[in-house]
This record gives sequence, structure tokens and C-alpha cells, in this order.
Amino acid sequence: MRCFWDEAQRAHAPRSEFFNGALHPAADVPERVDSVLAAIGRTEAPERRGEAALLELLGTGHDPAYLDLLRTAHDEWRAAGRTGDALPYAFPVHRRPRDLQRIDARLGAHSFDTCAPISGGTWEALLAGTDTLLSALDVVLGGDHAFALTRPPGHHAGADYMGGYSYLNWAAIAALAAGRRVAILDIDYHHGNGTQDMVAGRDGLRFASLHADPATDYPFFWGSAEESGGNVLNLPLPRGTAFDAYDAALARACDWLGEGAPELLVLSFGADTYEGDPISHFAIRTGDYARLGRRVAAMGLPTLVVLEGGYAVDALGANVAGLLSGLD
Ligand SMILES: [Zn+2]
Repeated sequence: MRCFWDEAQRAHAPRSEFFNGALHPAADVPERVDSVLAAIGRTEAPERRGEAALLELLGTGHDPAYLDLLRTAHDEWRAAGRTGDALPYAFPVHRRPRDLQRIDARLGAHSFDTCAPISGGTWEALLAGTDTLLSALDVVLGGDHAFALTRPPGHHAGADYMGGYSYLNWAAIAALAAGRRVAILDIDYHHGNGTQDMVAGRDGLRFASLHADPATDYPFFWGSAEESGGNVLNLPLPRGTAFDAYDAALARACDWLGEGAPELLVLSFGADTYEGDPISHFAIRTGDYARLGRRVAAMGLPTLVVLEGGYAVDALGANVAGLLSGLD
């Protein structure tokens, strides 16, 4: 399988995030990529399209004002006299006031949590990630599988908000850019809230997500079974879910996606379903990922794999390589 990666994606290097009542070292560290690269072997650098072209394409899915914030936030943060990563602390729960001035207010208006710090290299990494995504998508539009080593992740980002280590929604951008009937399957441990928000109600797209029950797990406010309907299917699973129950739910999701007669599949793959993941609670083993890949491959669709979560860095590479080997 052709794999795409741009070294400039390492430029996103946040130091910390805030959750469970304390600042923690950032979980989405550049070292995650080293584990994956070592396991999958050769990658290709994507075609560089240039910022103007990328902004035009990203604007088909993301709000232009939000993109502008991502581009300028760290400079504004510095101009406000701050050090470290840009991070919001106040959020407009009931409405989004207009004409916000302070960088803190603008960050809060476009975030749903404190887990998407913006470092000095975040925008550069996001542009490179978009190039990586689009080069892989080109391969898939030609009828083959491809892997876009997207980092940072994307599935928690909505059209005009960041959160959960996510800034641009790779799966939704690819589905919209494809211009075809697309099935999006999200098998990260956490619900793909941003993807759901961006594709719900859109003709030609279906979104199915297997994830930890939001009654117990982040992102809490999306992803219940009752939220299914139209072109969205949510299959929440209890903590402790191991391969057999997971595979049964996966089969159901694949069948439902197939009913939409898709022409290609976008797979939001997070390896944080792994039994040893430090922030998650499923029990999928390294040897299971190839079997999950074969289940997805049985859909018979050209498949674009994008990387979402997975924070057990030592095992991440083997888990990703296993999934890809099952697809091939
Ligand atoms: Zn996750």
C-alpha cells in the first residue's frame, strides 16, 4: 500500500494539555510518528500544493474565519505577551458572540475543550498534513488503497472548532474533496464528533462510528446510539470491549455503510482501541488489527486510511502496520 507522510508535520509540537483537573504532557507527540514509520517502512512525500490552493480546498469544509484563527493564533498569542502554546480557557456555551477581540476569546469560541494547544509550528504541520491527505486521496480516486499518515489527528475537529488534538478534519475533508459517494468509517476509541458534525445530512456521504460509550468516555456530548439517523450510525461500546464484540459491531457498520452504495471508503483509524493504550479502555490486541483490516477490506472499496489516535507509542507502529496488512 502506498503511504504518504511529510516531515513538516513534525512541526506541530505542543507541550501540554489540560484535562482531569491538571496540566499533562501532550499525548500527541511527534514521536508517535517514529513508531509508525519504523513499522510501515517506505513512505512518499506528498505533492506540495501551496498555501493558497490548500486554503481554497479546506474552505469547502471548514469555516474561513476558523482557518484564519488556526493560521494566526500562535502569532497573536505571542503578541499578547504569552509564552508556550496557545490554549483557551473560556467557552461560549450558549452562543458565539461576534467581533471578539482577545485571542483568548477567539480561541474559546472555536474550541470545545482544552486539548488542542497551538504551537509555533501547528499551521505549517496542518498544511503539510493536508498535502499528505490529498496525495493519498489521489491514489484512492484511482482505485487503489492508500495510507495518509496524518498527524495531528482530525476527527474531533468540526467545521469551525478544534478539540481533542484535532484541528482539521482529515476524513471529512477527503470525503468532500472526493466528489463521489463516500463511506466514512471511524474506528478510533473515541467518537468522531467533528466528522459527524461535518457530514450529517450531506447527500452521498455516510458516517459510521464505533467508539467508547459517551456516558463514560470523552467526548461525552456526542456519539450516543440515539444520535443515529439519516446518514449517521453510532455504535457505542462498553469499556473492556475485546475483539469478538468489536468485530461484530464492525461487521454491522460495514453492512450499513455498504447500503449507501459507496464508491470509496475513508477509514478514520485510531489505534487507541489497543489494550495497552494509556488513555483508553478497550482490549484489542496487536494481532487483532490485521483481522479488523480484513473485515474492512471485505467491503471491496478503494480505501483511504487516515490516522487518528493511538498513544501507546511503543506498540503504535505494529498496530498500524497490522491494520494496513489486513487491508492489502
Ligand atoms: Zn481517540
